[in-house]
Parts: sequence; C-alpha cells; structure tokens
Amino acid sequence: MLYTVDPDHLASVCPDEPPYRARQLREWLYRHPVLETQQMTNLPGSLRDRLELWPFELEADQSADGGRTRKWLFRTGDGAAIEAVLMGYPDRTTLCISSQAGCAMACTFCATGQFGFERHLEAGEITAQVAFAKAFLDEYGMPNSPHRLTNVVFMGMGEPLANYTHVRESLHRMIDLMGMSARAITVSTVGFVPGMRRLADEPWKVNLAVSLHAADDELRSSLVPLNERYSLAEVIEASRHYFKVKGRRISIEWTLIDGTNDSVDQARKLAEIAHDLRAHVNVIALNPTPLSADLPPSADRVAVFMDELRYEGVNATLRDTRGQDIDAACGQLRVHSEGTPIRIDRAVLEAR
Ligand code: SF4
Repeated sequence: MLYTVDPDHLASVCPDEPPYRARQLREWLYRHPVLETQQMTNLPGSLRDRLELWPFELEADQSADGGRTRKWLFRTGDGAAIEAVLMGYPDRTTLCISSQAGCAMACTFCATGQFGFERHLEAGEITAQVAFAKAFLDEYGMPNSPHRLTNVVFMGMGEPLANYTHVRESLHRMIDLMGMSARAITVSTVGFVPGMRRLADEPWKVNLAVSLHAADDELRSSLVPLNERYSLAEVIEASRHYFKVKGRRISIEWTLIDGTNDSVDQARKLAEIAHDLRAHVNVIALNPTPLSADLPPSADRVAVFMDELRYEGVNATLRDTRGQDIDAACGQLRVHSEGTPIRIDRAVLEAR
C-alpha cells in the first residue's frame, strides 16, 4: 500500500532495486498518479505485479448530475469507511475528501456525526483520495468540466483539525509533492480552535471554511456540541486571527434547517459576524439524514434568508445540494452501502 509509506522511505518497498526506483515510484504516486501499478511503465514488471497501490478498496462508485458528480466509498483493510465526492463545474473540478472515518463531533444534523467516530485517517489514506481522483480524471475526465483536479476541500467525513498531524502531512504531500496550490485547498472546521490557531502557523495559505450553522451560543450548542468547549466568540476570534495572519478570506458555512436556524433574526446576526470577519457566506439547505427529523426549509424560506443576508450587504452564495440523488450529503453514502468490495480497476469505473 504505497500511499501509506513515507514518501522519503519508498526505497524500503523495493530494497533490491537501484536507488532511482524510489524516485520513479515517488513520481508516479505524487506527480502522475495512476489507477493501477501496471501503468507505471518504467518499472520492471515483477515490481509492478508485487506492489499494492491503494490503502483501500472501492466499495461503491456512484455518479449523478449527468456524470458531473461522482461519489466513492472506499473501505480500508481494517473495515474503516472513507468517502470522497468529485464534483465537476464549467471552471473547476473539486474533490471533497474525508479526514476521519466517522466523526466524534456529533453535530445533530449530520449523518456522519450520528454514526460516531471510527478512527483518524492516516496521511496516506487522505492523500490517496486525492491521488485517486487525479488518476481517475486523467483516465476518464468529467463532462463539461476541466479534466484535471483543480480544488480539494476537506468537507467529507470528520473534523480535519481534530486529526491535525495526519491532515498536516497530507497538506504537505498535496502542496509540496503533488504541486497543488495551497489556494486551491480548503480546510473546513466546525470550530476546533486549537487546530485553527496551529493552521495559522503553517507555511501554507490554505483556505479556511468555518462551519457556524448558528449565530448565538445557545442555538449553536444545540446543533454543534463542540460549541460547549469553544464558544462562538472564541471561534470568531480564531477566524479573525487566521485572516489576519494569512490574508485569506474566511468562508462561513451554514446548513439551513427548517424552523431552526433559518430565521431572519439568525440571518441578521450572521450578517454581523460576516461583516466583522469580512467573510463570504456559503449557505446550503440540509440534506435530510436517517436518524434525525430535521428537514430543509421550503424554497420560499431559503429565499427570505438569502434576501436578508444580501440586504445586509453580505457576500453570500446559495450552494446547490450536489448529487442529492446519490446521498452526497456529508456521511450519507455509508449509511446505504452494502455488498462486496470491488477491486479498484478500470473495469469498475468503465462499468458506469
Ligand atoms: S458536520 Fe462535520 S464536524 Fe459535524 S459531525 Fe458531521 S463530519 Fe463531524
């Protein structure tokens, strides 16, 4: 499982080979990712046969939106579920990746949170999701979208900043080894303040997305239990610090839940926070989850909320719930997945 090997110690997987083999392997893994070791054409056949590329198997592969949304559920050898979603747009191709199997944050409206925490993902397991998407796009492209990966967002399963060491190492591999721009990567957090402050000290200017979902402590604590540990004021202060240090505009994420955080009063309070941080606000209507009665607001209520934000002069975008027909909301694919793992090969992907 080459992606779980330290990139500086790849010689350890081919001790009988000349030293340049490790360099060649590193190129294939990080500069020109491929779906199968057989595509590593400058390696000897015996080595290609022996090496195992991915640290997981592809358990489910779903596509929607005319092939512009692709959702993958990977399964590791120890049974952990990892999901990633690739979304194509006319000007970009964005991969949403997971940083943990499950999540301990227990946000009430989130399918992942409802199913609890399995374990942290290793840096190699995080990076491998990106490499897989790159290799996939290289082979198959995506309709009406760039045929290369342009953006990565840590918005799949898990709170990335609670798995700091591995997420940091994966950022290093994406930026320094794969050559991705830090500006093309967004780390999202539900307000893990120590991690926000550590990220501000890193050398990379990655984007920070802060999932607020509520604009006062009482409501926020009822939706995001972590708010009991790090209050809204602390999260805002850490966001301000990040903006000041990095000069990168913060984005605020807001999942709209019917009758809960979709009031004009919440919109006004959110507007105050957004102005204070000079942040962009991304609003998305809730994708209902099986273990919660929460629903998305009606289209009219969503429109009123957005109108209020814009009336207050907030830079706000209503995001579409991409791939709703394939359960593309955070953590939902695993809820429905069943069956036998499929080995990652072209046959699986071409069968779509
Ligand atoms: S919303 Fe994010 S932080 Fe909250 S439980 Fe879900 S995955 Fe975890």
